[in-house]
Amino acid sequence: MSLDELTAIDLRERIAARQVSSTEAVHAAFEQIDRAEPTVGAFISLFRDEAFARAQEIDRRLAAGEPVGALAGVPVAVKDNLCTRFGATTCGSRILENFHAPYEATVIRRLLDAGAVIIGKTNLDEFAMGSSTENSGLKKTVNPWDTERVPGGSSGGSATAVAARLCSIALGSDTGGSIRQPASFCGVVGLKPTYGRVSRYGLVAYGSSLDQIGPLAQTVTDAALMLSVIAGHDPADSTSVDERTAPVADYVARLDEPVGGLRVGIAPAFNAGADESVRSALDAAIEVYCGAGADVVEIELPHIDYAIAAYYVIATAEASSNLARFDGVHYGYRTPNPADYVEVYSKSREEAFGQEVKRRIMLGTYALSSGYYDAYYLKALKVRNLIRNDFVKAFERCDAILMPVAPTTAFKIGEKTDDPLKMYLSDIYTIAVNLAGIPGLSIPCGLDPAGLPIGLQILTPAFSEDKLVRIARMFEAATEWHTKKPAIVG
Ligand code: GLN
Repeated sequence: MSLDELTAIDLRERIAARQVSSTEAVHAAFEQIDRAEPTVGAFISLFRDEAFARAQEIDRRLAAGEPVGALAGVPVAVKDNLCTRFGATTCGSRILENFHAPYEATVIRRLLDAGAVIIGKTNLDEFAMGSSTENSGLKKTVNPWDTERVPGGSSGGSATAVAARLCSIALGSDTGGSIRQPASFCGVVGLKPTYGRVSRYGLVAYGSSLDQIGPLAQTVTDAALMLSVIAGHDPADSTSVDERTAPVADYVARLDEPVGGLRVGIAPAFNAGADESVRSALDAAIEVYCGAGADVVEIELPHIDYAIAAYYVIATAEASSNLARFDGVHYGYRTPNPADYVEVYSKSREEAFGQEVKRRIMLGTYALSSGYYDAYYLKALKVRNLIRNDFVKAFERCDAILMPVAPTTAFKIGEKTDDPLKMYLSDIYTIAVNLAGIPGLSIPCGLDPAGLPIGLQILTPAFSEDKLVRIARMFEAATEWHTKKPAIVG
């Protein structure tokens, strides 16, 4: 058996029907890992023995007729900024290289309660800061479609693991695009839920008002299945939303019901900034929706040009505060020979944080400092409100907005590392979505002339993930793009 032949939902059904065992599924995952992982480098850690032990336990429970969950026996990978009780939680940073979390993230608990088999933790840009996974302090991950190119980021390891079929399904986190953009670069589905839909408890914080955890998967159905497992209120995260206000749906149940009377919104002036191949794939995707009976309306997002500027003030401000805890005392790395206690802090941080993380701590500290707070941070918050209102207004005229995920397909390794602003610009289509807090999904919608995947981004109003996945499924049901896979899958 190869994982390539089965999605998570197929696999779980076969495991539950005892046509395939979880042990066989885990075996298939590690067989592919042994083959492809030395080339792609998706994982920071792998839990081979633990995964087999867990699979055997699930198989035993099934044989005994005991209840098992929605992901029983399915191999899953998780981004290494999610706290687990087993293994290290590194955040792709040397400062946390040997950090073992004393507690686990709520999403990890929910995965385990659902019977998932966590096979490893995936590489990321250090503390999820980046768009290419090149900022990882621990290892290099390459795009499975072209090993000279980046997998996107910051959840590049999770996207690569799913694209190369090292696992069936994975978790990432998205602060400004980090699920959707690597999904697009690697030709898989990525879903960032509404802010507050999924508990952030145990996700190492980067930009707390922007961060959300979500699935990367081969298909919309698998993403919907994973969302059903992780969504919902958590008393340990006060920003997770009360289910009486925003109920969690069974995202899989009505997935194949097309949304009737669908109006899709497009912002042509904004989309014009993308590469030719991305624009023509978007145009073709719009045609697919028209073919399914949707009406197209032109919308305006008047403040969207300020999204990158506002984001890089807000996200860095929050990061500078969140990362203050990594001080050589509380967590992780400590400089070996400090002259005094000030050096414990300064040298530990100097020696173990990477360049991008330091840049952001400095930017954020500056934006929050007295005298500049009003000019930068407060101004950025006001812009954020304007952008949020742009989306509210746009959704008065349409049910979903379609746009590119990124202006380009996967770029070459090293192409943007010397120019942070150029790197930041690659987030242009994803970042406003986090500022607005709405859900967004990336789905494969084409290949460029070099054969690299292109993603279509679909946005819907806050807490309408049930509709979002159905709209995405309409596209998937009408196209073949999600069946394309990189040669490394074999
Ligand atoms: N690329 C963006 C950044 O560097 C977004 C990262 C993310 O979503 N975690 O901040």
